[in-house]
Amino acid sequence: IKKIGVLTSGGDAPGMNAAIRAVARTCAYHQIECVGIYRGYQGLIEGDFEDLSARSVRNIINRGGTFLKSARSQEFKTKEGRAKAHEQLIKNQIDALVLIGGDGTFTGGMLFNEEYNFPIIGIPGTIDNDIDGTMYTLGYDTALNTVVDAIDRIRDTASSHDRLFFIEVMGRDCGHIALNAGLGAGAEEILIPEANRGLEQLLESLERSRNTGKSSSIVVVAEGDKTGKSVFQLAEYVEENLPNYDIRVSVLGHMQRGGAPTCFDRVLASRMGVKAVESLMEGKSNYMVGMIKDEIVITPIVDAIKGKSSVDSDLMRVCEIMST
Ligand code: ATP
Repeated sequence: IKKIGVLTSGGDAPGMNAAIRAVARTCAYHQIECVGIYRGYQGLIEGDFEDLSARSVRNIINRGGTFLKSARSQEFKTKEGRAKAHEQLIKNQIDALVLIGGDGTFTGGMLFNEEYNFPIIGIPGTIDNDIDGTMYTLGYDTALNTVVDAIDRIRDTASSHDRLFFIEVMGRDCGHIALNAGLGAGAEEILIPEANRGLEQLLESLERSRNTGKSSSIVVVAEGDKTGKSVFQLAEYVEENLPNYDIRVSVLGHMQRGGAPTCFDRVLASRMGVKAVESLMEGKSNYMVGMIKDEIVITPIVDAIKGKSSVDSDLMRVCEIMST
C-alpha cells in the first residue's frame, strides 16, 4: 500500500479530528502517502482531495467536529455514484480507504468493497455508541460528559423551583447515552428503547418518589424510547395524571454532538487510527477497528453494523437501586 485516503461521513462526532490526525501521522510514520477526502462520500465522488502530511494535521486533536467536513451523499447510494468514486480513487492512485463514521457509512463502504474489491477499514465515529465490535465509539464519552454537565445545570433550577424535568437526550434507537448519562447525573427515571417499562410504572415510580419527600426530579428520555409519545406528550401525560407537579421539558439537541473531545476520546481516536492504517498494511480489508476490554481489535464490518443487541443489565439494576 502506497497511498491511503481518509474521510469522515454521516453525523459528526468529537474525536473525528483526532482520528484523522492519527491516520495521517501513522501513514507518515510508515512512509505511506495520505489523502484527506472532504465531505465524505460526496467529496470522494467529486475528487475533493487534499494531501495530508504529519504537519497538516497539527492543532486539531482538541477540536470537535471534523475539519474534513461530513456529508450525507445520496449519490453514493447509487451504482453510478459509486462508479464515479472508484474512478476518482484510480485516477488519484489511492490504494485503500479509512472510513470514519457510523453504520450507514460502513454499509456504503461494504457495498463499495463488494463491487470493486477495494480495501476499506472503518473507525466507528458516532456519539450514539450503537455499533457492535467496540465497547466505545468515538465521541460517545465526550457526549456523555456534555449531557451530564447539561443535566447538572438543569438540576440546579429543578431543585430551586421544585420542578420535574423531562430531558430528552440523543442516541437514536439506542439507550446508551440516556442510561449512562442518566446514571451519572443522578436521574430519578431513565426511559430507554431497550427496556420499555410502560407509562403506568413511570407514574407509580414518580408518585412513590414524591411520597418519600422528593420535591424535584429529573427524568431522562432517550430520543428513541418506545413509549409511543414524544417527550412533550410524555410530560403532558404525567401532568394530567399526577396533579400538582410543576413540569418542564428540555430537549438537549445538537449541543450533544459538539465540543472538544475528552481525553478518553482523543486516546481512543489515536489508537484506532494507528490500528486502521496498520491493518490495511497487513492486507486486512472490510473490518472495523474497535476497543474491547481496553484492547484495540478488528471485527468484520458485517458484524459491527448489526448493532449492539442490548444494554448492560447490571447497569439497569444499578439505576433501579439508585432511584430508590
Ligand atoms: P450516524 O450514525 O452519525 O448517522 P452514519 O454513518 O450512519 O452516521 P448515514 O447518513 O446513515 O450516517 O450514512 C452516511 C453516508 O453513507 C450516506 O450519506 C451515504 O452516502 C452512505 N450510505 C449509507 N447507507 C448506504 C447504503 N445502503 N448504500 C450506499 N451508501 C450508503
